[in-house]
Amino acid sequence: MRNEAHSGFGFDRRPCGGFGVVHRPLNQIANLSREEKIYIMNTINKILCIGAHPDDIELACVGSLLKLKAQYNCKIHYVVCTNGELKKAGGTRKFEQKTVCEKLGVSSIKFLGFPDSHLHLYLNDLIREIEIISDKVNPNLVFTHTNLDHHQDHLAVFQSTVAALRNMSVGAIILYPSANHRKSVETNLVIDISDFFTKKQEVLDLFKSQRNNWYLTPTFVSNFASSMGIQFGFRYAEGFQIFSATW
Ligand SMILES: [Zn+2]
Repeated sequence: MRNEAHSGFGFDRRPCGGFGVVHRPLNQIANLSREEKIYIMNTINKILCIGAHPDDIELACVGSLLKLKAQYNCKIHYVVCTNGELKKAGGTRKFEQKTVCEKLGVSSIKFLGFPDSHLHLYLNDLIREIEIISDKVNPNLVFTHTNLDHHQDHLAVFQSTVAALRNMSVGAIILYPSANHRKSVETNLVIDISDFFTKKQEVLDLFKSQRNNWYLTPTFVSNFASSMGIQFGFRYAEGFQIFSATW
């Protein structure tokens, strides 16, 4: 059954919980009217995406970013916290990330250059950097890692983002999954990316040094998006968890 949605932006009706820092109960967000959803989507114009490594953001949410940009002309800003040098020379991955951002028409990208897999040792610096960028961008939607991730860098980014935004009135913080997330991640925001899936694969192809990783192969990416989509009546979808929202 197709989930009630506006332009394919579906808010799952399943209850979710376990988080604080919620300005509006998440079960109320799930029950927003169609008009409220339209209002929310139309007020989103500045998106800040925060990822630990090059390709994290794209793997999880580039289909949604492409859609938001196409439909609402959102400005998209990137923060990439490490150059991912443990999997390939950092310069290579940084170059790939820059190429992708150019293709996406990203408004700004900031590489923080912290050591790959050691972000937890730099939490204070990371929080400060995210605070500075958030102040500058003043986003009304933030995408970042989940707190149910198994990768220590992803967890550090989640923790730092929430801390950095503690005093800011951000429309919503949206958590995105990675190949390292636990199965228990509760999806309460689903975005239909069927019309943008081919482009998502094209974007991921630009991460040439990483495309052979199992989680970036075209087959895995396709299966992941279709398995999310089929639950909500879409061909391909990306699923997220709304962590906090002022809607
Ligand atoms: Zn990562």
